[in-house]
Amino acid sequence: MFTIFLFDLDGTLVPMDMEHFMNEYFQAVSCKFAHLIEPKKLIKEIFEGTMMMINNLNPRQTNKEVFWSYFAPRIGIPPEVLVPLFDEFYNNDFTNIKRITQPNPLARPMLERLIKNGYQVVIATNPVFPENAIRERLNWVEIGDLPYALVTTYENMHFCKPKIEYYEEVLSNLNARPEECLMIGNDVEEDLVARKLGIKTFLVEDWLLNAKNLPIETDYRGSFKDLAEFLKQAINC
Ligand SMILES: [Mg+2]
Repeated sequence: MFTIFLFDLDGTLVPMDMEHFMNEYFQAVSCKFAHLIEPKKLIKEIFEGTMMMINNLNPRQTNKEVFWSYFAPRIGIPPEVLVPLFDEFYNNDFTNIKRITQPNPLARPMLERLIKNGYQVVIATNPVFPENAIRERLNWVEIGDLPYALVTTYENMHFCKPKIEYYEEVLSNLNARPEECLMIGNDVEEDLVARKLGIKTFLVEDWLLNAKNLPIETDYRGSFKDLAEFLKQAINC
């Protein structure tokens, strides 16, 4: 049975309308950099840099390296100048976006129960953000302080969802076999692709995303509340 639980973050643990989030994020980041970079250009290049990370399959480059080797030259400002500004943004300004999310009162008790009972919990969020941004979003739902087995970030990963290489890298980092894991997420493409490796999936439907209208192939599905019930039944937790 499962010993490792991989949780997607946005729309799974953190209730979130991704489009609303991205709009707010781009607005806040453009504001922060308006004195240096024309907002339209900044947004375009962040978007393009993110696509570079998602499409990169070079195992020798972290997502961070992929992003910055594209982004800094395009913007024409060295990373030594930009990185500290981005850090400042994620450590301070980013928190204002919290208002677009709602609390998920079931998230923390579920994660705590799993960890207390000896299960490993992974934050398997798409690693296109730096660790400080991901930690900040974990804090939005008050789960930033828990002892996770792994939190995937753009610093520690070389691949992104929906590439199966992302899940291979997670398994390899945990030294785990697919059948030990359950992937829990709200995105039909990004999260359910884990099944290709033999990882079972639970599709959380409260904030379901299916941008490409793909056929839904999952082992289990339901609301976040159903997930709590499922864990009770499956592992008595
Ligand atoms: Mg998600």
